[in-house]
Amino acid sequence: MATQEPETNSLVTTEVSSDGTGRESRPDETVVSTRDLDVYYGSDQALDRVDIEIPEHKVTAIIGPSGCGKSTFLRCINRMNDQIDVCRIDGDLSFHGKNVYDDDVDPVALRRKIGMVFQKPNPFPKSIRDNVAYGLNIQGFDGDIDARVEEALKGAALWDEVKDQLDSSGLDLSGGQQQRLCIARAIAPDPEVILMDEPTSALDPVAASKIEDLIDELVEEYTVIIVTHNMQQAARISDKTAVFLTGGQLVEFDDTAEIFENPDDQRVEDYITGKFG
Ligand code: ADP
Repeated sequence: MATQEPETNSLVTTEVSSDGTGRESRPDETVVSTRDLDVYYGSDQALDRVDIEIPEHKVTAIIGPSGCGKSTFLRCINRMNDQIDVCRIDGDLSFHGKNVYDDDVDPVALRRKIGMVFQKPNPFPKSIRDNVAYGLNIQGFDGDIDARVEEALKGAALWDEVKDQLDSSGLDLSGGQQQRLCIARAIAPDPEVILMDEPTSALDPVAASKIEDLIDELVEEYTVIIVTHNMQQAARISDKTAVFLTGGQLVEFDDTAEIFENPDDQRVEDYITGKFG
């Protein structure tokens, strides 16, 4: 009897994933990739020949001991390092296949596509509404700003708490609310990628847990790349984990479960079991 080939399109995955996150699996499109990425501050090398392909609509955690280049790597992605005079970059860093360091790339436009949230919540001394609308005003957005502000605040799980006080100062909010305000400010211009540099380390555990829950929701719409020194957090919230070690080398990059349960590299095992770092 002839076997009939199932009619499938090999490029499309429709199964529901069985990974720990319970998220629906999608075909892994690479959104950010690097090849032979070196970064120097003056004569000091901070990243050493980093090759990585970061998938879209996933949470990628960047972990490793202090000083191994995690923040440097994150800042390269949306060219925040441009603002550091002594910083020099070699190699390739691409966003959807286009080298972000090409002469024709406008860093401001790039940062609209690749937003950033920092360790310490940093709202502007402006109203909640103006904080969220900040990027939209800069880009001359001519749509319904109030609707976008509401959408971004809802996306950052803050709307219900602030909808009656949009004219109050963003600085009057609690630390955790301020961080969600910063996330709303980052998503208002409708980016594709959100970079987060230890976004919960300045927060109390309850506020931190709300941000973790939020990240789980954000990844439905965005790609999240998060630096964290908290390995339990990386294990809880990320799909992929990249382990950098001293000297700025990316030692291992894999599914988070593999990194934490069955790492290839002995140094990664030593690091995650707390033997150093
Ligand atoms: P991590 O985020 O893993 O702690 P960083 O990326 O902050 O590491 O730092 C990597 C290396 O680059 C460190 O040796 C650090 O001292 C150096 N470095 C980071 N930022 C600067 C800077 N603005 N100027 C000079 N050196 C820097």
